[in-house]
Amino acid sequence: MSGLTMPKADAATLARRAEIVGDMRIIVPGEGVVDAVNSMRAFESDGLTAYRQLPLVVVLPETVQQVSRILKYCNERNIKVVPRGSGTSLSGGALPLEDAVLLVMSRFNRILDIDFANRAAVVQPGVTNLGITNAVEQEGFYYAPDPSSQIACSIGGNVAENSGGVHCLKYGLTANNVLGIEMVLMDGEVVRLGGKHLDSEGYDLLGVMSGSEGLLGVVTEVTVRILQKPETARALLIGFPSSEEAGQCVADIIGAGIIPGGMEMMDRPAIHAAEDFVHAGYPLDCEALLIVELDGCGDEVDHLIGAVEAIALKNGSTVCRVSQSEQERLVFWAGRKAAFPAVGRISPDYYCMDGTIPRKELPKVLAGMRELSEKYGLRVANVFHAGDGNLHPLILYDANVPGELEKAEEFGSDILRLCVKVGGVLTGEHGVGVEKRDLMPEMFNEIDLDQQMRVKCAFDPNHLLNPGKVFPQLRRCAELGRMHIHNGKLPFPDIPRF
Ligand SMILES: Cc1cc2nc3c(=O)[nH]c(=O)nc-3n(C[C@H](O)[C@H](O)[C@H](O)COP(=O)(O)OP(=O)(O)OC[C@H]3O[C@@H](n4cnc5c(N)ncnc54)[C@H](O)[C@@H]3O)c2cc1C
Repeated sequence: MSGLTMPKADAATLARRAEIVGDMRIIVPGEGVVDAVNSMRAFESDGLTAYRQLPLVVVLPETVQQVSRILKYCNERNIKVVPRGSGTSLSGGALPLEDAVLLVMSRFNRILDIDFANRAAVVQPGVTNLGITNAVEQEGFYYAPDPSSQIACSIGGNVAENSGGVHCLKYGLTANNVLGIEMVLMDGEVVRLGGKHLDSEGYDLLGVMSGSEGLLGVVTEVTVRILQKPETARALLIGFPSSEEAGQCVADIIGAGIIPGGMEMMDRPAIHAAEDFVHAGYPLDCEALLIVELDGCGDEVDHLIGAVEAIALKNGSTVCRVSQSEQERLVFWAGRKAAFPAVGRISPDYYCMDGTIPRKELPKVLAGMRELSEKYGLRVANVFHAGDGNLHPLILYDANVPGELEKAEEFGSDILRLCVKVGGVLTGEHGVGVEKRDLMPEMFNEIDLDQQMRVKCAFDPNHLLNPGKVFPQLRRCAELGRMHIHNGKLPFPDIPRF
């Protein structure tokens, strides 16, 4: 845990910093370079606010050429770079480093092209997730992945974190909805991967970039798939006497071949917090609440509602309400979307975890979490992307009570260990960042980590892009054998002819 400020630097360090700041001002003239300590405070953390660090300097480029020149400059002088979008990451991915340039992409905020015929939009990486839907909805289109932070988070950050949201169960994560990107490598080379077309030649480097957490390149343009809004969408609120019964209902819905547009679960503390905050009409006398959205044409939705109601009843549901209007559907979702800030109202602080498990393990993991909650003496509120098995336990603590933050962190680590133990993974959508970096060996052995680092080496052999994130220890590219990529493709030796 870090509460660092700028350390007292020696004369040589100060002179080097002044030189770098001066050179950045040449590359990005005007207001695009921030080096005053008070102004840099706005950038000292991301959504994982327990970690704070002032950067060497903040630079806000406006053009691809500027990004390319900055990266080339830093690469040649061995200067680290941390890319940043809107700074909403919950795993510390955009946390500055004291000796790194913080490259903030928020001025890349233009929609470049909307192509309804090809169902694609080309946008700059600083455009917000919701900004894409806002730009296309007048023609009945939308961008499907919808993180709860969508009003603020950037599409560049979404690509870097492979972000998800309530509608990703049916429509896929960011990786499934990005068709192409333009990115700048650490040596300044500008590379394009994919495009408006459906498939690309060669290795799936676009897939490699999805969830790469700012370690491989800086995204400067994104082509996304846009979808036509379904004719009808209705949501059901279904209450259960226990999380186990709700969990079984989720498994049975999927098992019946129904893929809802969204399927979310909240436990009692989360239900009460959200209802007190948003007044969404949630039933308060249940232990678990499912929000199930069904979309498609009218008849299909009516049929699916009947099928889901029957499955819910068989699993012991005590209450089931179906939205009767678009406004009511949105109100049902408003509580879930505001669940994190709602929990923030009932506890001085909360620590949001993100792990994924096979759906059928939910009862076991919930029971394990209850035991851990007693062991650590800290309450936990649970919000799940239930259909995906992606858990977001919110551990409630008070940072002003000495030792409680450390306890919350240890509790969170134990939850993630439990996820891995039942066959799940350390993160569903929030990334590894600094938060889960030291837990990586729980999931990957040395050989796995070396292979992942070889990919990093192919893009950034000098380890200058967002170092200290994701990998628990630095594995030098020289030791692993270097690979270089050129123009978006891994080079291969000529195949000898026989
Ligand atoms: C209240 C709240 C709710 C949230 N809900 C969800 C949710 O439902 N689903 C979900 O998936 N996440 C959620 N998040 C997490 C967060 O919003 C996402 O991870 C989001 O994608 C981060 O985008 P950003 O623009 O803020 O990126 P940042 O936080 O600025 O950066 C995140 C990572 O992306 C890298 N990066 C940013 N821009 C670029 C770029 N142009 N090129 C290369 N690398 C880049 C950074 O280096 C960093 O590693 C939530 C966060 C909050 C605070």
